[in-house]
Amino acid sequence: MAIYLRGAGSAPGVALGRAVRYMPDTMALRAVDADVDAAMARFAAAQTAVAEQLRTLAAILRAEGRAEEARIFDAHAFLVEDEMLALDVARRVRDGRISLEQALSDAVGSLRSAIEVIDDPYLRDRSSDVDNVRRAILAMLRGDTRRLHDLPAGAILVTNDLTPAETVSLRDGYIAGFVTAEGGPTSHTTILARAFGIPAVVGLGAATLAIPDGANLVLDGGAALLIVEPDAFEWATYERRASGFVAARVRRHALHDQPGRLASGESVTIWANIGHPDETRAALDNGAEGIGLFRTEFLFLGRDAPPDETEQYQVYRATVAAMDGRAVIVRTLDVGGDKRIAYLDLPRESNPSLGMRGLRLSMRRPELFLVQIRALLRAAAHGDLRILLPMIATPDDLAWAHAQIRSAAASLAHDGLPHRADVPIGVMIETPAAAVTADLLARNAAFFSIGSNDLAQYTLAADRGSADVVARYPHDSPAVLRLIAQAVGAAERARLPVCVCGELAGVPEMASLLIGLGVFQLSMNPASIPAVKERLRETTIAKARTIARRALEEQVVRAG
Ligand code: PEP
Ligand code: MG
Repeated sequence: MAIYLRGAGSAPGVALGRAVRYMPDTMALRAVDADVDAAMARFAAAQTAVAEQLRTLAAILRAEGRAEEARIFDAHAFLVEDEMLALDVARRVRDGRISLEQALSDAVGSLRSAIEVIDDPYLRDRSSDVDNVRRAILAMLRGDTRRLHDLPAGAILVTNDLTPAETVSLRDGYIAGFVTAEGGPTSHTTILARAFGIPAVVGLGAATLAIPDGANLVLDGGAALLIVEPDAFEWATYERRASGFVAARVRRHALHDQPGRLASGESVTIWANIGHPDETRAALDNGAEGIGLFRTEFLFLGRDAPPDETEQYQVYRATVAAMDGRAVIVRTLDVGGDKRIAYLDLPRESNPSLGMRGLRLSMRRPELFLVQIRALLRAAAHGDLRILLPMIATPDDLAWAHAQIRSAAASLAHDGLPHRADVPIGVMIETPAAAVTADLLARNAAFFSIGSNDLAQYTLAADRGSADVVARYPHDSPAVLRLIAQAVGAAERARLPVCVCGELAGVPEMASLLIGLGVFQLSMNPASIPAVKERLRETTIAKARTIARRALEEQVVRAG
């Protein structure tokens, strides 16, 4: 009889195949390590080797334009080399008269227990990251060189958990998919499986470990479901779905070099959102026609001092060069609030999302803003670079930014540095105030970009980081859509281009809705581009307008 197991998280896709168990953790541990110094020397060597492997992997992923995924490996390399971990392991070997491997397992075990009692699903998922670090060091200590490719092709991997490096090694499609006992929706294994298109169900619990080698499995990533020994009818149904899934991927890839277009012929500009210049590669690979939103925060985070003008100029110039004549819309620094930077020494605020964030931080620290604007005006001499201002709430905010930009241009002229003084300056419409006064802002803007993530948060008074609240107050609520419609109306009257660069733009159903509201520029996560392009080619403008009219009137009920 079939057994149905539901996971805590998943990566989409359907896979059918035989189970192949991968349980490296069940190998016997050495008994004791009497020579503590020798054991710790082995440990240090393993730490260095694993960290090096992880950093090499990060570099490869970065070169492939996968900066987001690369950061996972950098973070793990940092954890691997943690000095506190080494000290704890040494103490356990010395005091407990146990083996190095056992001491490592115990040290990580107690760290995990400390993390798991924290009432936060994101932090709980980090606990499996810590365990991945243990497994990677353990494999190095044992000289365990077994690779996942030694397993039969087309199988579904059944395991306790995978390290990020193991997950990446599955991306060539050799294995049909994987299921794990551990992990959750935001664990790095899950994020990587999604990024690389590997069907997976994670967090299935202890029952996973009882699945025998060779069992027939159906993995339905969309439903986070694993069926063990399905009946013939279920198998055949899923077989049809699996081939449909592959066919859709091939079909979408064919749209890669096609422009965004509706079935009724209207053009739609499809841009990518990026957070690092390396991601231009993923943007182009997925068929982006430009960069609609370059979040520049990465340049300022994880360091002790802000980047200087030269460093920023080089980054912006490289991005423009990589996009080879296509538009690159760069947003000025949007930190503050809950994205804190220690060296900026900002005041603690009881309502950070309503406080010193985005352009407000620039107003408080104009010297930072000027450096960034100078770098941007210089890079704009090399291509189609446009500047986007975050968190504008009033025409005065915008006037302040224009005055600063004029003064940056004057200082560059004075210094005799090549630059472009008349760079188009756009406004993020992401506060309700900006949406309802869009007609006033339009007088002093070259384009609008609607940040639906923040616009929804501020309109619905629903913290964008709270999963509970967001489910009940979705971003396509009539309140948000009416504000978008109002901003679009103001843009049309002023003949300004208007884009949506929040998450709404990357959801195929929502993309048609936005078109129906009059938005013909959409900027999204590069991975979402093929599916959005495909959906638009099936939608007529008349249909999109009907969808939009209905959505302005009634909320789709999602939460009970
Ligand atoms: C938005 O608010 O919709 C947006 C695109 O900006 P961010 O998500 O970076 O705040
Ligand atoms: Mg925003």
